Amino acid sequence: MVQKSFHFANERKKVYELAHNMRWAFDCPTQQFFARLSPRVWDRSHHNPIAVLSEISEEELRSRLLNGDTLSELNSCYASLQEYLKRVNTPPQSLKKFDRHPVVYFSAEIGIHESLPIYSGGLGILSGDHTKSASDIGLNFVGVTLFYRQGYFTQRINSEGWQQEEYVQHDHASLPITPVTDEGGNLVKVQVQIGRSLVSVAAYKAVVGRSILYLLETNLPENEEHYRDLTSRVYGGDSTTRISQEIILGIGGAKFLRELEYEPAVYHMNEGHSAFLTLELLHEQMLLGKNIRRAIEEVKKKCVFTTHTPVAAGHDRFTQDLINFSLSGFVTSLGISLEEFMSYGRVNPSDKAEPFCMTVLALKMSRAANAVSELNGKVSREMWTGLYPGKKAEHVPIGHITNGIHSLTWLSMEARAVYHNSIGPKWHDKITQPAVWKTAVSKIPDEEIWSLRYALRRRLIEFTRERMRRQQIRYGNSSDWVERTLSADALTIGFSRRFATYKRAPLIFTDMERAARLLGDPKRPVQIIFSGKAHPRDDAGKAFIQQVIRLSRDPRFAGRVVFLEDYDMAVARQLVAGCDVWLNNPRRPLEASGTSGQKIVLNGGLNCSVMDGWWREAYNGKNGFSIGEDKDSQLPVDQQDKIDAANLYDVVENKVLPTFYDRAASGLPLKWIKMIKDSMRTIAPVYNTDRMVREYVTKYYLQK
Ligand SMILES: *Cc1c(COP(=O)(O)O)cnc(C)c1O
Repeated sequence: MVQKSFHFANERKKVYELAHNMRWAFDCPTQQFFARLSPRVWDRSHHNPIAVLSEISEEELRSRLLNGDTLSELNSCYASLQEYLKRVNTPPQSLKKFDRHPVVYFSAEIGIHESLPIYSGGLGILSGDHTKSASDIGLNFVGVTLFYRQGYFTQRINSEGWQQEEYVQHDHASLPITPVTDEGGNLVKVQVQIGRSLVSVAAYKAVVGRSILYLLETNLPENEEHYRDLTSRVYGGDSTTRISQEIILGIGGAKFLRELEYEPAVYHMNEGHSAFLTLELLHEQMLLGKNIRRAIEEVKKKCVFTTHTPVAAGHDRFTQDLINFSLSGFVTSLGISLEEFMSYGRVNPSDKAEPFCMTVLALKMSRAANAVSELNGKVSREMWTGLYPGKKAEHVPIGHITNGIHSLTWLSMEARAVYHNSIGPKWHDKITQPAVWKTAVSKIPDEEIWSLRYALRRRLIEFTRERMRRQQIRYGNSSDWVERTLSADALTIGFSRRFATYKRAPLIFTDMERAARLLGDPKRPVQIIFSGKAHPRDDAGKAFIQQVIRLSRDPRFAGRVVFLEDYDMAVARQLVAGCDVWLNNPRRPLEASGTSGQKIVLNGGLNCSVMDGWWREAYNGKNGFSIGEDKDSQLPVDQQDKIDAANLYDVVENKVLPTFYDRAASGLPLKWIKMIKDSMRTIAPVYNTDRMVREYVTKYYLQK
C-alpha cells in the first residue's frame, strides 16, 4: 500500500537529525531503530548511527521506511526527541540567568558514548554524564575538549597476558560530529602560540540533547607536521605533548568560544588540565586596560574549578624550562616576567625549584573550588593548605560535590521494563526524583527483581563468552572450552576499572589458599569478571592485568575468573548490568569518588567496597557491603593491604555468600532482594548527575 503522506526528503531529514543528536546515547528506542537498519554495521561500528547510515543507500532507506513499522518507529523516536528538546526547565527560574550566558565546561576528556572514543576513564565518563544531565535539566551548557583522532587505545591482550595498545584512526565523517564552519562554509579557526610557532586550531561540534560540545583539533594542513598530531591521542606523549595539548584546550578553547561570540557566565575547569584558559581570560582583561591584579580579580569572578585526585602524580606539573619554551610568547604578551608567571603555578611563589602546577593555577584563578566527595574534600583541603598561609586545613576554601552518574545512560534495557511497571509510563523523567523512590521500589515484586537479575547475568555471560571466543580465535586456539566458563547461577562479582595500581585489582588473590577455597566452593559458586585498561606507560598496572590473566588460566580458578578485554563504555554497560556484586577495593583515600558502583544500582547489583569516595557516604549498613571501617589508616601500605584483604575475604565469606545463597522455599534469596531494594531506594535518587549538576548550579555556577 502506498502511503500518501510519505515525503521521503522529510523522513530522511528526521533520520539524519536523530543520528546527529547524541541524545540517542541514552535513548534505547532510537538505538534500536538504528541497530535494526543494519545489525552487523551497528555491532561492528561501536553502535554508531552515522556508520549505519553511511552503509545504507537512499533507495534502501526509502524502501525500509515504507515497510513494516520502521516509519512509525522513526516518527515516535523523532517525536520523543522534539519533546525532549522542548522540555521545561526544572525549576525554571534559577537556570534562566544562563540562557544568554552559558556555563562552559572544559575537560581533557568527555565520554558520551563508545563510538566517540575521546575518553580514558572515570574523569571522561563523569564529564559526559555531566553534559547529559545539564541537557536534561535545561541548563545552557557548552563543553570544550579535544578531538582525539586516535582516541585512547584498543586493548588487546597477547597470549602471554600482556596488554598491547592498538590505535585506530577515526574519520570525523563517520562520527556524529560536524566541522564548525562560518556562514561561507569555511572552517572556523583560531591560532595559539606554542613556543615560536603559531598553531591553527579548528573544531568539531557534537550535539548531546540540548548541550553542545566543541572538540578542538590541530590536524590542519597549515600546521607544522609535529603539531598536526598533537591532539591524536588521549593523554599521549611526553610532558611537551601534554603541555601543548593543554595550551590548545585552555587557550585555544577560550579563544574559540570568543570567535563564536559566546559570552560565558561561568568557566568550569574540570580538573587542572584546562587551567591555561585563565591565561587567555587574563589576556583579554589586560587588553581592556586592566593591570594584572585587577585582571586576576575579573578572571576569578568567572572561574570555578573541580579537583579530582589526591594522587600527587595526578596533578600536572611543568618545569620552568618547559614553561619558558612553550609559553614565553604568552608571558610577554601579559607584560609580566617569567618569575611572576611561575608564581601563579607555585604553592610557594619564591621557591625557584618548584615546578608549575596546573592545580595551583586553577585554584589561584577561581572564585570557588570543589572536590568530588566528602572525604576527597577533606583530603584536598589538607593537601593544599600551603596555598592559604595562615589558614587551618578545615578553612581552606575547597568544598565538595559528590559525583553521580547519568541514570538513563547506565540503565539496562531489561531494567527499563521494571521501572515502567513500577513508576509508570513517564518513568524516565522521574527516575532521578527522590519522592518517586519512596514508593516505587516497594511496588516491584521480588520475583521480578530476581528474574531481572537472571536475565542480566545471562546476557553478561553470553557477551563475555563471545569476546573470549574471538580472543581465542585470534590466538589460533580452539575455543570450545569457552562455553564451559562462567555459570548463570553463580554469584557474579565484577571488578572493572582502570588498572591503576592503587585500585589493587589482585587484592582478592592476596592469600592464594583462601582465594582458591572461596572460588572453588561447589555449593556456593562464585565467579569474578575483571576488565580494565592500564595506561600505556604503566607497566605496574599491566603486570596486574597479567597476574589476573595468569590466574584465570590456573586450574584452581579456570572458568571462574575471567578477564574481559578492552573495557570501554559498551563493556561497562554490560558489566554494570550483569554483575551481582561490584567490588571496589582501592587504597583509601585515593579513590576520590568513583562512580562505576553507582551504575549497578538501578540494574539490581550491590556494592561491596572499601569505605572510600562516594560509598562511605551512601552506605547505611543495609544497602550493600563495606570492606573494613570508615577510618584513616596510619599503617604502611603493605600492612594495610593485608588487613584490607583479610576484611575482603571476611565480608565475602561471611556476609555476601550466605545472603546470596540463603534461598526461600520459592527459590528466591529474600534477604538479598531486600538489600537490592534498599540499595535502589537509597542510592538511585542521590548518586546521579541530575542531583550533581543541580548542586553545581546552586553552589558554584550561580554567583552568591
Ligand atoms: C564509569 C566508568 C569508569 C569510572 O569507574 P570508577 O570505578 O569509578 O573508576 C571508568 N571507565 C568506564 C568505561 C566507565 O564506564
